[in-house]
Amino acid sequence: MRIASVIVDVPAKQTDKTFDYLIPEQWSDIIQPGMRVIVPFGPRNVQGFVTGIKTESEFVKLREIIEPMDLEPVLNKELLALGDWLTEQTLCFKIFAYQVMLPAALKAKYEKKVILASGVQPADLPATLQSFFEQNDRMDWTQALHHGLVSLIQREAANGRLEVVYEVKERVKKKRVKMVRSLANIHELEQEMEKLPANAEKQKLVLNYYLQHDQPIELKQLTEELKVSSATFKTLIEKGLLKTYEVEVYRNPFENKSFERTSPLPLTQAQQGAIEPILNSIETNQHEVFLLYGVTGSGKTEVYLQAIQEVIEKGKEAIVLVPEISLTPQMVNRFKGRFGDLVAVLHSGLSAGEKYDEWRKIQRKEVKVAVGARSAIFAPFENIGIIIIDEEHETSYKQEDMPRYHAKDVAIERAKKYNCPVILGSATPSLESFARAQKNVYHLLSLPTRMNNQALPSVEIIDMREELRAGNRSMFSRKLFELLKDRLEKGEQSVLFLNKRGHSSFVMCRDCGYVVNCPNCDISLTYHRAGGIMKCHYCGFESPVPRICPECTSEYIRYFGTGTQKVEEELGKILPEARVIRMDVDTTGRKGAHERLLSDFQDGKADVLLGTQMIAKGLDFPNITLVGVLSADTMLHLPDFRSSEKTFQLLTQVSGRAGRHQLPGEVIIQTYSPEHYSIILAGTQDYNLFYQQEMMVRKMHHYPPFYYLSIITVTHEQLLAAVSATEKIAGYVRSQLSNQAVVLGPAASPIPRINNRYRYQCLIKYKREPNLTKTLKTILDQHQRESKDGLLVSIDVNPFILM
Ligand code: ADP
Ligand code: ZN
Ligand code: ZN
Repeated sequence: MRIASVIVDVPAKQTDKTFDYLIPEQWSDIIQPGMRVIVPFGPRNVQGFVTGIKTESEFVKLREIIEPMDLEPVLNKELLALGDWLTEQTLCFKIFAYQVMLPAALKAKYEKKVILASGVQPADLPATLQSFFEQNDRMDWTQALHHGLVSLIQREAANGRLEVVYEVKERVKKKRVKMVRSLANIHELEQEMEKLPANAEKQKLVLNYYLQHDQPIELKQLTEELKVSSATFKTLIEKGLLKTYEVEVYRNPFENKSFERTSPLPLTQAQQGAIEPILNSIETNQHEVFLLYGVTGSGKTEVYLQAIQEVIEKGKEAIVLVPEISLTPQMVNRFKGRFGDLVAVLHSGLSAGEKYDEWRKIQRKEVKVAVGARSAIFAPFENIGIIIIDEEHETSYKQEDMPRYHAKDVAIERAKKYNCPVILGSATPSLESFARAQKNVYHLLSLPTRMNNQALPSVEIIDMREELRAGNRSMFSRKLFELLKDRLEKGEQSVLFLNKRGHSSFVMCRDCGYVVNCPNCDISLTYHRAGGIMKCHYCGFESPVPRICPECTSEYIRYFGTGTQKVEEELGKILPEARVIRMDVDTTGRKGAHERLLSDFQDGKADVLLGTQMIAKGLDFPNITLVGVLSADTMLHLPDFRSSEKTFQLLTQVSGRAGRHQLPGEVIIQTYSPEHYSIILAGTQDYNLFYQQEMMVRKMHHYPPFYYLSIITVTHEQLLAAVSATEKIAGYVRSQLSNQAVVLGPAASPIPRINNRYRYQCLIKYKREPNLTKTLKTILDQHQRESKDGLLVSIDVNPFILM
């Protein structure tokens, strides 16, 4: 008798444990740990993960597994164990830990099919399958089940003759366009022309078009070409002469590019010094964490590439994480250029189906290098030789939903298993990592200078209060304007950076100061010019902009603040001849838009690139000689203990965009807080001094890296219920921890209400509390059971965002 332990896809406290199921005879050779199965659970059938196989169970009456979903495990042994670790570390349900490791396609709706492996002919298969595949190119999984072919298929799959694939039902809407065609023949069209009154010029234009072309055409294109309105078409459609219909158009933004192959560059002395300890760790199979600290352009990526080369030569695999935002073609090309087809790329620009294809290349060991954003840390390699995290300070490495993991912790956990090195790279390491390097927990490697000793750009800080005093009300200081004009004359390029976070354009009454807030969340609505609407970024609420102020009925209610659109408008007024490319969520929403805008800029199709944080990274164009930061301090005032660090990192990063090549660069930082150390030190690009200053602040206020944090957030529709529950929880935490721990709260969360739920927090600061995990689990258990009272409790261990 074979029995499978299964974690079922029912995320709740009571079901967060394995259930035993009998493996029916017919599947007994097939089902293995790490496979997904369908099992009966209560009255329903649910998905589950097999975590182990055994021969005995303490339960007497076992139900049977209905069917396997996979022919090979989707989670290997190591990943199954990693799931246990994730569950323990982040206090999440086991099912979430497993699901987060798989590509979306394996979670989405999909159809499972059996296909011939490439190069295999139907004649190569056993007779039963042969006749089927002679007539069809794919078999539905349900068909395979129905005809009892699964074990046969599994054997053929093991021999490499068949494959099981998932065809994802795209959740992304297909793109459709409206076409218009003529229903009349030439004769009828001519007759109609004659009947039309002389003043019906527009209709004549359209009819004349169809007299000359009998092909359908996109409606939009024709209205633009003939400069006619949709009303004209409406009339002709009503007369039965034309007809509109929709067709699907094929999108292919990532056409197959060929990559220029590169070979390893002779390393500089500094690079040599940095790579040697890494190679040594690879050579001796010793796990070690390296912090590669080097300014932008100091040659870190070349060090990554050569370390990976070594790993590949040893027959092992590499995972490279880069922030989603810098997963640009430029970055990807560097890896593809060096390792060609051995590279799989996982990023959010791919459709679910494309991502799944990349994941399968990894699973089938067709590639050796996985490059991707946060979730690529779960790449299903089985012989990892190195894990690299570029821009290790980036907040996007922390997942904000369950499981709330940090990719760095996962990287170190996996690397320990494989006895391999982890490289954390950054020009502005997180305080935590640099502190660990200072204490020799991490091995510090430095690349102190840029390649060829190029000077860092010169940075000037402009006090915007002075500008105001001098009568300049524009968002451009006099100096920045002067330099922009200068670059325009010289034909050099500029980048203007607007930090949008915490400073988006909201709608305010100029008379009484009333700000339009979301009715569900305590936060202002963001103005979107496209469509003239306001949106809530937390709950999605939308509303048109009011014409008069609801408070004082003034008509002077309008959007306020400096969105990128507004900057673009103002730039158009003061430098009308400048060609501007704007990059923000509005202009880069469509697939491939990001790349297109960047390559236009690279090709010199614009003088100024204007954007939000998304342009802060990865940009490396020779002709950029000026970087302007319009408002450096917008992030400084966020209620977050990392706001100084983030400001420093961002300003340093942005400054690094100028003068990366022959032409020297200049940077202008505009600010209302020119005396703040994070701005002054970003100006002098002095990481070490910033580190020391900020460490003092952190020590004083008991923040990381001196203390660990955990945050408990309690939400309820009623304010009092949220407060009193948080109060009880805080009291309980205090009673369980040592008096070295600091327990703060209940306090209203920085965003005190989201989606009509009040939010209260309890913040725990601690150094070493062996009791903490147990305490937090008890709290979660308790509230799972009591969740009928409408209370939601979530816990973030080592939070990155305190909202
Ligand atoms: P980082 O990753 O630190 O920003 P890169 O690795 O991108 O730095 O290096 C900056 C530039 O210097 C790149 O154009 C790269 O091709 C070049 N470079 C790096 N290492 C070398 C080397 N050893 N010899 C010559 N050029 C190099
Ligand atoms: Zn008003
Ligand atoms: Zn809202």
